[in-house]
Amino acid sequence: MSPAEFAREIEKRRTFAIISHPDAGKTTLTEKLLLFGGAIQLAGTVKSRKAARYATSDWMELEKQRGISVTSSVMQFPYKNSIINLLDTPGHADFSEDTYRTLTAVDSALMVIDSAKGVEERTIKLMEVCRLRNTPILTFINKLDREGRDPIELLDEIEQVLQIRCAPVTWPIGMGKRFKGIFHLNRNSIHLFSPTHGGKVKSGEQIQGLDNPRLDELLDGQAEELREEIELVKGASHPFDKEAFLGGEQTPVFFGSAMNNFGVEELLDVYEDYAPPPQARETVTRRVAPEEPKFSGFVFKIQANMDPQHRDRIAFLRVCSGSYQKGMKLRHVRLGREVQIANALTFMAGEREQAETACPGDIIGLHNHGTIQIGDTFTQGEDLQFTGIPHFAPELFRRVRLKDPLRMKALLKGLQQLSEEGATQLFRPLVGNDLILGAVGVLQFDVVAHRLKHEYGVDCGYENVQVVTARWVSCDDPKRLEEFRTKAAAQLALDGAGDLTYLAPTRVNLDLTMERWPEVTFHAIREHA
Ligand code: GDP
Repeated sequence: MSPAEFAREIEKRRTFAIISHPDAGKTTLTEKLLLFGGAIQLAGTVKSRKAARYATSDWMELEKQRGISVTSSVMQFPYKNSIINLLDTPGHADFSEDTYRTLTAVDSALMVIDSAKGVEERTIKLMEVCRLRNTPILTFINKLDREGRDPIELLDEIEQVLQIRCAPVTWPIGMGKRFKGIFHLNRNSIHLFSPTHGGKVKSGEQIQGLDNPRLDELLDGQAEELREEIELVKGASHPFDKEAFLGGEQTPVFFGSAMNNFGVEELLDVYEDYAPPPQARETVTRRVAPEEPKFSGFVFKIQANMDPQHRDRIAFLRVCSGSYQKGMKLRHVRLGREVQIANALTFMAGEREQAETACPGDIIGLHNHGTIQIGDTFTQGEDLQFTGIPHFAPELFRRVRLKDPLRMKALLKGLQQLSEEGATQLFRPLVGNDLILGAVGVLQFDVVAHRLKHEYGVDCGYENVQVVTARWVSCDDPKRLEEFRTKAAAQLALDGAGDLTYLAPTRVNLDLTMERWPEVTFHAIREHA
């Protein structure tokens, strides 16, 4: 690839994730995006995996069909002149850690809002995460085919609650039974809604100009209503400002109905025109620009046993600079070792394929035999460490109780692997032989028990344990740290990565300990260094 070709490839990439509260329409919208990208055959698979979220047992059944879940964790598809990398995030709040880390691997996010419900609790949380890196956000207000709230009121709510300015790009013409289509403020054109769109990529009539008499013919009185409303909207809202959008201060807003495949194309067009291509990324030492010729990337997710036949574990790596070429040697920075990557996977149109090349913004899957952890950096020689890939202190803890003591080795192996994957966090107290699991959501414990049984042949149960939160500890003074290690041994553990962790029996205890040991830092978030 010549430098000019390489620059063009980068410029084409759009890497993003959809954030929403459950039920707002993320799955439906994902399907429609794939439909527009020509990956129609996949539409069904996205749908089938979602029942998932509500009942644990369903979720597990579906997760067992690992082939499906891996292909839809990352979906790459072409759209017009772009190559889109859409990263899936688990819907259930109990897996939010995974979602947070996935959001570190995107350049923008698409926020889906249910027009009847407005801004919901999980959207607020996810927006907070996006804000940490000022990720540009596009907004899709969904379900306009149903009666919902007043669009102006919805924009107000987004501005107030999420603290981001709204720039409507499309505007709905009526809603529910009176939903007639959308007006495109930038193009000054109307796209009429025809509910017959169904699963096909087919547009309703397009009318140019708000003054067009054809509008009165088709919309009757609603045409005049629309003209007045648009007048008002133009006066009251912000015009789209690309700089503000790229800085995460303003969000372009689209209206539509994912189920009816309506308003989705307008959204994708703006993705192509305005959404950012792969951005520079921070490392401990310097910023890495995508157009740098040497390869670099970081692992943001690990998924184990996707193919039970092969017991493989895939590490998902976001390419940050340079390009991946099949068979290339990469430096595994944390281990300080060169490794040959012969069979990385790409996720073109949802199929697992062997990657010949991959560019910045793309995700590749590395086969992991236990040496790769979330947060690991791979480069072509330089000792870089990308920052901002967090582990959060868990808030829920259980002691693992093994039913058959002879299975101890298998249990340890399983827990070690599942904690590398981020499915749970494993803590081994310095004193005694307990194995303590930490989680952010309670469903994680059930999933771990289920997977231990089915993937590692280990039956285990859980007991309550007196731990309310964990803090990773560090101290610049090694002597003082050693003292702390001795004095507080009963409360200390090593986590899955071997880092020292304080397991606090109560909040008060944590506060007191922190006061007593001012030289020791207690971290609620851990990043690999
Ligand atoms: P997710 O939980 O965010 O992935 O939401 P889904 O895509 O599964 O959608 C939740 C429910 O809303 C499903 O029953 C969808 O059929 C429905 N839905 C999605 N989009 C629309 C829409 O545009 N209009 C209507 N009326 N229902 C929709």
